Amino acid sequence: MAESDKFSVAIVGGGLVGSLAAVYCAKRGWKVDVYEARRDPRLESVDSGRSINLALSVRGISALKKAGVDEKILSNMIPMKGRLIHSMDGKLSSQPYGIFGECINSVDRMMMNKHLLDSAEAYPNVKLHFHHELNQCDFDNQKATFTKKDGSSVTVKADIMIGADGVYSRTRQQLMRKSRINFSQQYIDHAWVELAIPPTAEGEYAMDAHHLHIWPRQTFMMIALPNLDKSFTVTLFMPWSKFDAIKTEQDLLTFFRDTFPDSIPFMGEQLLVANYFKNIKGSLAQIKCRPYHYQDKVVIIGDAAHAMVPFYGQGMNCGMEDCIVLDDMFTKHLGDLSSPASLGPSGPAVAAALEEYSENRNPDAEAMCDLAMYNYVEMRSSVTKPEYLFRKKVEGW
Ligand code: FAD
Repeated sequence: MAESDKFSVAIVGGGLVGSLAAVYCAKRGWKVDVYEARRDPRLESVDSGRSINLALSVRGISALKKAGVDEKILSNMIPMKGRLIHSMDGKLSSQPYGIFGECINSVDRMMMNKHLLDSAEAYPNVKLHFHHELNQCDFDNQKATFTKKDGSSVTVKADIMIGADGVYSRTRQQLMRKSRINFSQQYIDHAWVELAIPPTAEGEYAMDAHHLHIWPRQTFMMIALPNLDKSFTVTLFMPWSKFDAIKTEQDLLTFFRDTFPDSIPFMGEQLLVANYFKNIKGSLAQIKCRPYHYQDKVVIIGDAAHAMVPFYGQGMNCGMEDCIVLDDMFTKHLGDLSSPASLGPSGPAVAAALEEYSENRNPDAEAMCDLAMYNYVEMRSSVTKPEYLFRKKVEGW
């Protein structure tokens, strides 16, 4: 089939979900173009302001496996077999995630993103376009306009568009102008900042590397996930009012001495102060919307469709799972990868796939948003309660 006759997909966003979606579409033999607003992270380091490491769970791993891009990621992740609770008096208690050694895994966001971009680009039918920021869509005529680095615009045409452009998705904004989308956005009163625990002077982990560390303090908390270089990425979550109250180095050190005393020797006061005042304080929002598609023209996935607060560690995992569910719908309505109908699908078949994807995926994604919201209370408070420990015991922990 000539390149120009191939069914074509424009994917907006080359983040974790967009780059994985590109691999799934490439496997179908479609012509895939990925448009990413930022520069190529493989060429220059990108200070994205987003979390450095993430917890990858079974949901995400299954999606990586199905696309055949799991190997490098699985061999570069650190299994965390449970939570390690740091109480005020420095006492540690381990809470395993399961009785059969179940784990979640700490993975470097940038390593994963670069690997997924490489994996997508390895297909001859995939082209990546960096410095292309989606500006406007004309869904009925299957056109999208992007602004390039030099300020010029380019309009492209594709049979279908997949919006994987994150929480502030322009694809979603454009979709909402076109179609009757129910939408809600909820900011929570808490923010986050990233800190760090470096390796010890001996080049070792300062704390146990196979746990997700939590300092639960009832109305707020701090967590730490291990990195392969023997450091930990630490994230402090607390209400904006608490961040606002810390104005000076002294305020910060007093707060840490009162609240997270055992973490200070690990971080070192100088590094703590430097990171706290240098790093951005991020807001946290949940987005729900429905449906996720318009006719056979466009569908949104990942945070663009269902951004959730990070306390269940499932935002990326869910976005990756979107790729499996969407692919299953394409298989159901267009045939499997070898089917001629899949290679050159008809509009009604694509519309049916997107419709069923929206219908099926929305309740599951919204349930994950709710669980994520609930899990903040679990992590910052419930894990310290005696009833909670008792319940875990009864369940066989
Ligand atoms: P993004 O990662 O936001 O990628 C979107 C991409 O689209 C970006 O590259 C962006 O530059 C690009 N883009 C945006 N607008 C445009 C445009 N107009 N044109 C072209 N490109 C555009 N999830 C987990 O599963 N586990 C965790 O442990 C976890 N921890 C987290 C911790 C924190 C502190 C936070 C804030 C989030 C965490 N998450 C976690 C959630 C996770 O980060 C997101 O769910 C995930 O990044 C979503 O991926 P995405 O590809 O949909 O969106």
